[in-house]
This record gives sequence, C-alpha cells and structure tokens, in this order.
Amino acid sequence: MASAKECKALTAAGGMRMSNPTDRLDPMPALKKPLTIRLCQPRGFCAGVDRAIQIVVLALKKYGAPVYVRHEIVHNRYVVEGLQNLGAIFIEELDEIPADHRHCPVVFSAHGVPKSVPADAEERNLFYLDATCPLVSKVHKQAMRHQRLGRHVLLIGHAGHPEVIGTMGQLPEGAVSLVETEAAAHAFTPPADTPLGFVTQTTLSVEDTAGIIRVLEERFPDLRAPAAESICYATTNRQEAVKETAAGADLFLIVGAPNSSNSRRLVEVAERAGARMSMLVQRASDIPWHELGDIRTLGLSAGASAPEIIVDEIIDAFRERFDVSVDLAVTATETEEFPVMRVLRDVELTPADMAFVNGTR
Ligand code: SF4
Repeated sequence: MASAKECKALTAAGGMRMSNPTDRLDPMPALKKPLTIRLCQPRGFCAGVDRAIQIVVLALKKYGAPVYVRHEIVHNRYVVEGLQNLGAIFIEELDEIPADHRHCPVVFSAHGVPKSVPADAEERNLFYLDATCPLVSKVHKQAMRHQRLGRHVLLIGHAGHPEVIGTMGQLPEGAVSLVETEAAAHAFTPPADTPLGFVTQTTLSVEDTAGIIRVLEERFPDLRAPAAESICYATTNRQEAVKETAAGADLFLIVGAPNSSNSRRLVEVAERAGARMSMLVQRASDIPWHELGDIRTLGLSAGASAPEIIVDEIIDAFRERFDVSVDLAVTATETEEFPVMRVLRDVELTPADMAFVNGTR
C-alpha cells in the first residue's frame, strides 16, 4: 500500500504532463512519464469479507487442516488459493466431504446459504461454521418478516448469484420473485390479492436499484420496503468513492474478480462518472499495458472481496513503468467490524495470520 507519506489529499488533476503509451515489450522505460494515481478510500475488504476469511483462518488454527469451505468463501481467487495453501478444501456441496472427514469443520461462505444447507449439515452430523455476513443475514430476516406479514417478496438482485440463491432459499418455493431489471419490474405480474414487500441483494448498483424500486413503487403504491436499507454500507461507500474520483481519469482500474458483483458494479460506476476507460483486473499481470494509451491520471479501487496486497502489487507495477504520485481520495471512514462466532474467539488472530491478504503493513 502507498505509505502515508507517499499519499496526499486528492487535488484537482490539472497541470499534468503528457505521457506516451507504455509498451509491454519495454516495461521499464529509462525515462518514466508522470502518472497520478487517485487511490480510493474506502476500497477493498469490507467487514463481512474480513470476518469470513478470519473464520477460515481461525478454524484452521484451532482444529487443524483440513477445514472444508462450501463455495468460494469470498469471490476472489487469490484469497481462495491463499486459504488452500493454509489447508482449506473448497467444495460446492456437502456430500463432497469424505465420510472419514465428517469431524472436520465446514464453513459456509459470506454470501449466505439457503436454509436447506445447514439442515443438510445437521442431518449429516457435520460441524459447521456459518460465515454468512451479518448484513446478508439481515436481508434474510427482512425477507422472512415480509412473508410472516403475508406479503409476497420481491427480491431485487442477479439470478444465480450465491447471495440471491441464499436469500430465496430462506422462504418456501414460490414465496419470492426475483426482479433483475427495470424492464422486469414493468413486466412483473404479482400473485392475486397478495400484498408485496421487497428486499435487495446487498451488492447492487445504488442507482440501478433506485430505478427498479421507482418502477415497482409506481406500479404498486402499497409495496412495502424493508425496515432498513438492504444495499450494504461497503457497497455504497465503494461506489461513492469511485463516483467522486472518476471524472477526468484516463483509466480506472478496479481490482476484483469477474464473478464479484460489487466489483463489476464499480467498473460501471467509474465509466458512468466520467472515467475515459475502466476495467476489472484480478492481478497486475492482467493489465494490458500496450493498450493503455496516453494515461496521466489513473483511478484505482478494489471490490469488497479484493485483498489490499493486490492493490499494492498494482501500484508497484505502475511504479516500474511510470513516475507515480499517489493521491489518496478519502470519501468515508469505515469503522465496521464484525466479530467471529463465539467458538473461535479463544484463538488469537495475529497480523501474520492475515499477511497473505493484507501484506505486512
Ligand atoms: S459486501 Fe456488504 S453484505 Fe457483502 S460481505 Fe461485505 S459488508 Fe457484507
């Protein structure tokens, strides 16, 4: 990470000198051109992701390897591989756990799981640790509350995303309808004589979601909102930081995985907010150096499941090719921390345990 003395508060980006295109064949030119990196803060790990990774690390420390993890604990290959190196085994379904490993813990991912999954684990007599983010659990409760009050539930989200599968799986089949777009909101036919309530996936575009809710509220004036905002603080803050920073950026890089919903939303937000070009990268090696063109100002942020160590790697890769100055663009201060479950609180978590994602800061 750029050290505090290397960063300065975000200033107007005027007065930059022009730089020539960088070339993959000449990654370290003798004369480096100036480049300002506008580094968004907040960025990267949210409290829910941090907690989920901590749960796997602490389970490994307490119970030893292997620890099974159902589904990618968070949507990031680097994190998954790091945990595999520590002794985690990733599976998609519980029946993949061999009979002689049923005493090993199995962790459910931060995205949440349908109710059938813990029920299945209990039936198989497995020891499970549920790393569902508390903010996703809150959405589950909101959906259940709507249903308890006799409402048909509209879930605004993306089909196939594990969080959506988990939320739909809190309620009986037919009790939830998924609405993905404004067009779908226009086309939705509600069940006859049933009041409606909505919830949303936590990682959506704030603007797109507002558009969908507007359509639904126009069509169904009695539609009931959840008791509290469903799009989470981390999604909102990361989108806001990118929005504030994007105007005038020649390129905006978002560190994140293609299957990370909140990372992909950040790419869209950067483009809408005025970045000339924006792209998702998982590692510095994904950066198409020869296609970057004449860049002088780079926006940089990371999705909620992307580790800071990759942000460092990317800044270092730019330092090799450019004369870099880093402007820290602070738009919010986050203090959220979600404690791990009681059974793991007796295990000490050291900075060294998390260095594989956080680096050695
Ligand atoms: S993005 Fe939000 S809901 Fe998802 S894990 Fe992070 S804090 Fe929780």
